Amino acid sequence: MITVSEALDTLFALARPLPVEEVPLMFAVGRVLARPVSARRTQPPFDASAMDGYAVTAARPGDMLTVIGESAAGLRYDGTVGAGQAVRIFTGAPVPAGATRVVIQEDVTRTGDTITIGDKLDSGTNIRPAGNDFAAGAEIPAPRVLTPNDVALLAAMNIPTVPVTRRPRVALISTGNELVMPGEEPGPDQIIASNTFGLHAMLHQIGAEPRLLPIARDNVESLKLAFDLTDDADLVITIGGASVGDHDLVAGVTEALGMSRAFYKVKMRPGKPLMSGRMGGKMMIGLPGNPVSAMVCGHVFVAPVIRALLGLGTAPAPRLTAPLAAPIGANGPREHYMRAALGPDGLRIFERQDSSLLSVLGAANALVVRPVDDPARAAGALVDYLPI
Ligand code: AMP
Ligand code: MG
Repeated sequence: MITVSEALDTLFALARPLPVEEVPLMFAVGRVLARPVSARRTQPPFDASAMDGYAVTAARPGDMLTVIGESAAGLRYDGTVGAGQAVRIFTGAPVPAGATRVVIQEDVTRTGDTITIGDKLDSGTNIRPAGNDFAAGAEIPAPRVLTPNDVALLAAMNIPTVPVTRRPRVALISTGNELVMPGEEPGPDQIIASNTFGLHAMLHQIGAEPRLLPIARDNVESLKLAFDLTDDADLVITIGGASVGDHDLVAGVTEALGMSRAFYKVKMRPGKPLMSGRMGGKMMIGLPGNPVSAMVCGHVFVAPVIRALLGLGTAPAPRLTAPLAAPIGANGPREHYMRAALGPDGLRIFERQDSSLLSVLGAANALVVRPVDDPARAAGALVDYLPI
């Protein structure tokens, strides 16, 4: 048996970063910026007024100035402001030549074309200097997952399309004679395929392009047929059929299809059987069939692999720390990912940890990570967890 961290390293070694594609800004959110991009202009491109008011050379309380024109956002005043003069100006408008400050309109009284500066004159210039936000050539570093804020910045930089890593195409194959799709009428001995839907949702959320293939039955032909449909995939994920039971065919079939295979038992709960390798241009991961095992392996292995394929580096799923709400007993020889709920009093670990209980997983928002042979812990002890 190998450790979780050894299994992850093996997976990272099999993951090849994907090519780069250009997408319009409208479709950039959530994508991974693949290369640094540089601002194509300076912002603001000119000294701009930060307020509505009057652009002047100087102002003291009681000064009377003559308004000689107007500078609006999008239409500047072309002349120069001199002593004793003012230009009516609005937020975002270019500050005219000669002006050193903008007196806000609340600080003046206007009569016809004359303004008088009031007593409560503020001291700010109310001018945003050219390049105050960014200069042409300023870089947004890569790689990074683009947020709505980034998209606003890219737009201001006049960058209409961005280079992003192609979304990993992931084909999901459920295996089992007992499985039917949600919404279908199951026979008396059948259950609903749930893992593929959970993993599909997870993959979608983390920036992959998942695709559900038809359920493969527990025979070689059916499984081969499913694999035949994976040509365009970067990653094929099978679920179930991965241990050593009579009906567990994934290992044999992938080998027959030319996969250089690594099959391991990972020292973890839930999980344990995990398979991976490469065949042709694609990577393959075989997950255990038990629903909670499949989802936990999704968080622990698949999500970091997707990040690696996206060019976001090779790191385990990020962990946080919180206190236990109640004591827990010692852990055994396998790293245990325990379903728990994080509340105001800390992490409450669920009583029932069986790997078939999706209702417990659904109530959980954390996986408490118990290291191998971790001793018993008291309430209040700080432990690592994965937010889920
Ligand atoms: P297996 O690894 O194929 O022996 O599956 C282990 C357990 O997980 C069995 O109880 C299966 O019925 C169940 N299982 C396998 N695949 C799925 C799936 N896609 N959705 C829900 N349960 C599954
Ligand atoms: Mg099965």
